[in-house]
Amino acid sequence: MTIKEIIRSSAKPFPSLEIVPPMKGVSKEELLNSIRPFMEFCPPFINVTRHREEFEYLPQPDGSYTRRTVRRRVSETAVCAAIQAEFKLEVVPHIICAGASVGKIEAQLQDMKFLGVDNVLALRGDCLLGEKRFTPEPDGYRYASELVTAIKEFSVKEGKDFCIGVGGYPEKHFESPNMDADISNLKKKVDAGADYIITQMFFDNQAFYAFRDKCREAGIKVPVIPGLKPLTNPRQLETIPEAFSLDIPQELVRELTSHAGDKTACYRIGMEWCSGQCRDLLAHGAPAVHFYTMGRQDNVLEILKNNF
Ligand code: FAD
Repeated sequence: MTIKEIIRSSAKPFPSLEIVPPMKGVSKEELLNSIRPFMEFCPPFINVTRHREEFEYLPQPDGSYTRRTVRRRVSETAVCAAIQAEFKLEVVPHIICAGASVGKIEAQLQDMKFLGVDNVLALRGDCLLGEKRFTPEPDGYRYASELVTAIKEFSVKEGKDFCIGVGGYPEKHFESPNMDADISNLKKKVDAGADYIITQMFFDNQAFYAFRDKCREAGIKVPVIPGLKPLTNPRQLETIPEAFSLDIPQELVRELTSHAGDKTACYRIGMEWCSGQCRDLLAHGAPAVHFYTMGRQDNVLEILKNNF
C-alpha cells in the first residue's frame, strides 16, 4: 500500500518511525526486537535511512596511502526485507543522490521492486566529511528533484509505480539563500511527482505551521508530515543545531542546561517537550507524526503512549 493511500484512508492521525540501519555485527533478531515494542501503536510505515559510502585510508610501505571503501552498517535493502517480512507493514527506503551513479540508483530501485516495496523517500544526501558544497557524482543527480524525475521514469519503464516522499525544512535548508527560494525548490520536487513531504526535525511548532502555510501559498498541495526527535542530553544543544542547521527554543535550552548532569531529568525534559509538540501537532491537523528514533526507543515509546 502506498503512503498516499494510507494517509487518505486513515480515520485518525498515526505515528511513523525512522530507523538507521544497525552497525555490522548486530543480529537480525536484535534489530527486530528493538522495533517490536512500537508495534503496539500500529505504525503503518517505517523509514530506513541510507548512508553514503565511507572511506578508510591505509598506509603503504612507501609512505603513501590507498583509499578503501568501507561499509560499517548492514545494507538498507537487508533491513527493509527483514522488517517487511516480520511486521507486515510498509517500509520506506531512503534513496540518496550522494555517492550514487544513475546506474547504482536504478539497481536500488530494481531491488525494491523485487521486494515488493511500494514507497521510497527521495533525497539528495549530504556532503562528504570535510566538503563545503555538495558534489554530485559525474554520472549522478544534483538535486532531489532530478531523482524524483528519474524514479518516475523508472516507474513508467518498469511498470512499478513508487509512491515518492521528499524532505522539507521548516527552518529552511542551510544552503538556501532564503525560505521562499527553498519552498520554490521544494515545489520543484512536488511538480516532478513527489506525493508527500516529511520534514526535518524541529523543536518549535510555530516554525512548522508557518512552513506548512508557505507550502500551501506556493501551491504545494501534498500532505506535509512533521518530523520530531526528543532530545536526551545537553550535549545535543550543540550537536543537533550543527548537524541539522536548526534552532532550539531558549526555554528548552534553559531547562536542559539547568539540569545538566542529571540524566533522568534531561531525559524527562526532552521527552515531555517532544510529547507536547506531538499533542499540539495532532490538535492542529497533522495527518501523522514521524519520529526520528536514531537508535533509541524508550523516549519515543513514551511519547506514543501519551499521544496515540
Ligand atoms: P534538495 O531538495 O536537492 O535540496 C538541496 C538544496 O538545494 C536546498 O538548499 C534546495 O533549496 C536547493 N535546490 C534544490 N533544487 C534546486 C535547484 N533546481 N536549483 C538550485 N537550488 C536547488 N540524508 C542522508 O544522507 N540519508 C538519509 O537517509 C536522509 N534522510 C532524511 C530524511 C528526511 C525526512 C530529511 C528531511 C532529510 C534527510 N537526509 C538524509 C538529509 C538530506 O539528505 C540533506 O538535508 C540534504 O542536504 C538535502 O537533501 P534534499 O533531498 O532536501 O535536497
